[in-house]
Amino acid sequence: MLRVNCPWCGFREEVEFSCHGEASIFRPNKSDSLNDDDWGEYVFFKENAKGIVLERWEHSSGCRRWFVALRDNVTDNFLGFAKPNDPPPRVPKGYVQDKSCVSIPMPKFR
Ligand SMILES: [Zn+2]
Repeated sequence: MLRVNCPWCGFREEVEFSCHGEASIFRPNKSDSLNDDDWGEYVFFKENAKGIVLERWEHSSGCRRWFVALRDNVTDNFLGFAKPNDPPPRVPKGYVQDKSCVSIPMPKFR
């Protein structure tokens, strides 16, 4: 079973958490003025990259707070965790990613 490190509570079992997808997607500033195509792009189309991804997680059965996790979705290894307003976790030096994976640039947080 996976153990997830909530930045507030520490390590807990995976069943206490919910993954809410890619952390690099931000709600558009003026979403009420978007046309249907642009709104559909925001809501439905995700990168879904294979490899190291930055994701939003919630400690849904614990403190109910949100945080960011860096995870290799091929091996299911968590590489780092951060509170939402902290700098995102970075890939540890020496970590070897599967060669078949696509490297995606880490998002720039506001
Ligand atoms: Zn927590």
